[in-house]
Amino acid sequence: QPTRHYDAQALWQKDKDHFIHPFTDFSVFHDKGCDLITDSDGIYVSDAHGNRFIDGIAGLWCVNVGHGRAEIGQAMAEQATRMAYFSTFNNLSNAPAAELAAKLAELAPAHLNHVFFSCGGSAANDATIRLVHYYFNRLGKPNKKRILSRRNAYHGTTYLAASLTGIESNNWDFDTLDHLVTHLSEANLYRRPEGMSEADYCDQLVAELEETIERLGADNIAAFIAEPIMGAGGVLMAPKGYHARMQAVCRDNEILFIADEVVTGFGRLGHFFASEAVFDTRPDIINCAKGLSSGYAPLGATLISDDLFEVLGTPQRKGGVLSTGFTYSGHPVSCAAALANIEIMEREGICASVREVGPYLERQLKTLADHETVGDVRGSHFMLAIENVADKATKELLPVEARVGDRVAAEAQKRGLIIRPVGHLNIISPPLIWDREVVDRVVAILDEAFAATT
Ligand code: PLP
Repeated sequence: QPTRHYDAQALWQKDKDHFIHPFTDFSVFHDKGCDLITDSDGIYVSDAHGNRFIDGIAGLWCVNVGHGRAEIGQAMAEQATRMAYFSTFNNLSNAPAAELAAKLAELAPAHLNHVFFSCGGSAANDATIRLVHYYFNRLGKPNKKRILSRRNAYHGTTYLAASLTGIESNNWDFDTLDHLVTHLSEANLYRRPEGMSEADYCDQLVAELEETIERLGADNIAAFIAEPIMGAGGVLMAPKGYHARMQAVCRDNEILFIADEVVTGFGRLGHFFASEAVFDTRPDIINCAKGLSSGYAPLGATLISDDLFEVLGTPQRKGGVLSTGFTYSGHPVSCAAALANIEIMEREGICASVREVGPYLERQLKTLADHETVGDVRGSHFMLAIENVADKATKELLPVEARVGDRVAAEAQKRGLIIRPVGHLNIISPPLIWDREVVDRVVAILDEAFAATT
């Protein structure tokens, strides 16, 4: 295939004039415009000027099998030319959606056998809350409406998902549906109260949940939603046993436990789903997106337990249907991409490779801890972050204006590596195909980048 050449300057101008970029600081964008990423291959992406970078963020936590997989492209092309789209409303279906639903039921914990498709993570979370409300309405418990989420959680940006999101700055000057959501404390082992043991910290977080249920009334609470490891909120690690204990309290109070595995799913922690394999929980619902199709096509999925489906799937009042869904629920091309993606993951043993290379990546990143600003190196397997601080002992942060995360990321990029700055953090969430040799190259670049950030 001949490479398509772009007129980089013309595209830069069009983009600057017309594309409202998500999550973008326009005070910078109006002057600088965009960096156009035009090409990709395996662990690399390239920009319009021909500069090639190691992708340290898998696009946006999603290109799990790596870039340029012709097999996924072919599966999508074949599906698009054979039957690009037809409705899945009512009794209609298509082959990739049916195959994928069954495959997800096979990969998920044994009790999750029913799949609701959406177009991404926000939409999956949004659809989930509607289904949860519907479920309790159908059970004759219409007061069970409130959703417990956590500060610093990220669940997306549809109106409802943004309301679940607990990163304060994400909702600056936006409105949220506060009557539906209560935020508990995040579980943040690094910034737990000074001198408190991990076990006591866990007790404190569980006690907060119990007190909140007591205060609001279990009859008014529908569900608790949590990422197994908080991603965009800063790769925040919970104390040992936290998730299982939170779930036990929820179960005792008929509060559904929703695991948002949009990032942790599809291999990032070494398993297709981390909830049961890593965190010993048995969620009523697991949401996934991103790695589900490795970002080759937009897709989200809500995996629903047999118990819940018994209610959702029983006949409605006369003349009614389960009136929720999207034109693109079960989109054939997206589902074909996901099936090809899963086939690659299984054939290449990608989860096993993450279980082997992930701990090495963690260990090697921790060698950066001697650098002046590095306060914490944390995370698990292919989901990691470095927290920059002004003072390692007090964990005091550098002033926002120092833009330390941006500066480290810029130094890394100059040296051929893209990592993600989020405030004072640098996030590393690579394609799952990094091997030890790539890890060594990446850590050497980061070593130089931190040294150059003064
Ligand atoms: N949930 C989690 C845990 C996420 O990290 C994200 C996106 O980063 C979302 C939901 C939202 O997904 P999307 O951007 O596909 O709507």
